Amino acid sequence: MPIVVQKYGGTSVEDPDRIQAVADRVVRSREAGNDVVAVVSAMGDSTDELLAMATAITPIPEPRELDMLLTAGERIAMSLLAIAVNARGCKAASYTGSQAGIITDTQHGRAKIVEIRPGRIKESLAAGNVVILAGFQGLSTNYDITTLGRGGSDMTAVAMAAALGAEVCEIYTDVEGVYTADPRIVRGARKIDRISYEEMLELAAAGAKVLQLRSVEYARRNGVRIHVRHAHSDAPGTWVGEEGEEGLEQVLIRGVALDDEEAKVTIDDVPDRPGIAASIFKAVAAEGINVDMIVQNVSHDGKTDLSFTVPKADLPRLEVVLGGVVSDIGALGFTADDDIAKLSLVGAGMKSSPGVAADMFDALAAEGINIEMISTSSIRISCVVRASEGERAVRAVHQRFGLEGPVLETEG
Ligand code: ADP
Ligand code: ASP
Ligand code: MG
Repeated sequence: MPIVVQKYGGTSVEDPDRIQAVADRVVRSREAGNDVVAVVSAMGDSTDELLAMATAITPIPEPRELDMLLTAGERIAMSLLAIAVNARGCKAASYTGSQAGIITDTQHGRAKIVEIRPGRIKESLAAGNVVILAGFQGLSTNYDITTLGRGGSDMTAVAMAAALGAEVCEIYTDVEGVYTADPRIVRGARKIDRISYEEMLELAAAGAKVLQLRSVEYARRNGVRIHVRHAHSDAPGTWVGEEGEEGLEQVLIRGVALDDEEAKVTIDDVPDRPGIAASIFKAVAAEGINVDMIVQNVSHDGKTDLSFTVPKADLPRLEVVLGGVVSDIGALGFTADDDIAKLSLVGAGMKSSPGVAADMFDALAAEGINIEMISTSSIRISCVVRASEGERAVRAVHQRFGLEGPVLETEG
């Protein structure tokens, strides 16, 4: 029997009625002759609510205990869905990540999957069950419960699809697929029928949270085909696959993304000497904090200012690290600004097309939006702007590149 892995996100299972609707869909897939593995996220905003309870107790909760707490959200959703599927006369059994053999490293909060031992899941499928699997979690090589980073249920689904050799990994969410921009921000955003792993990686890295970045990397490495779809509609969604696959349109610009989950940190009066940047970023990396954009200003009198962006969620830990580093290197001090947004334009055709950056900056200038930082890759241009201007910036750039109308073809 073909194996189908389906993942249902938080809003798709946010209340008992939605869980009933998901159960109907799971049973339909089963009755159509598939072995079904349904991965679930925690209901609605429950992960955020659990996190808020912990940080109300202390700003930097013990990572091991935080993971134990957060994984409870997915346990609730998985058991309710299994109850709903069983109530329809279709045999189902739910499993935590640890029961399902998802083995991770020991990095709490952002654990990486090191191995999957899907024996128990295969046995359960062979016994005729629909398997319901808790997303976002695993068991570390030290036998502790871990989580796979925010949005990590996508990772669970893709990794299980790879381990089981599933036909497809269906990601069910609250929009009909991957769009040229977040459809909640840009009303005229267009649904993309097919997108390459490469472009999807850049969009995900740029903050289009419809797919978790790491899950796209894993899918690309393991050749897992992803179909992003609406949980409560039958419309076809977006296929994510290899570039050059049949039907994958070549376009100049693929889409625009907005990331409002980063903060800008500036260290003032950094001594302009070899080795200083290395010592700052080594200390930050040792805390496991990802740095995105980095800008160093021109130096005056042997001193310079250094700005970079990090996830807002990591600010409390970063502030502890920088407190020490700043005095070690003899800098003046640092400030953190979490009132920013990062706007990115993504498209594989950009590589061979000069003038894209200029057009993007011009679209922002025409709206009177100031650019605070810029960074580029071969298929992405990102700008930091004030948070309050982020959505307007997305709409302006989306419109400037004609993403609502017919797609621009690459030349040659
Ligand atoms: P889930 O709970 O199903 O995992 P997420 O909230 O993680 O859902 O991701 C879906 C959301 O991603 C959508 O509601 C949408 O607002 C947002 N999003 C951002 N950029 C895009 C995009 N380019 N295409 C589609 N959705 C996007
Ligand atoms: N519930 C987790 C989160 O909110 C995992 C997920 O939804 O994918 O990040
Ligand atoms: Mg998600």
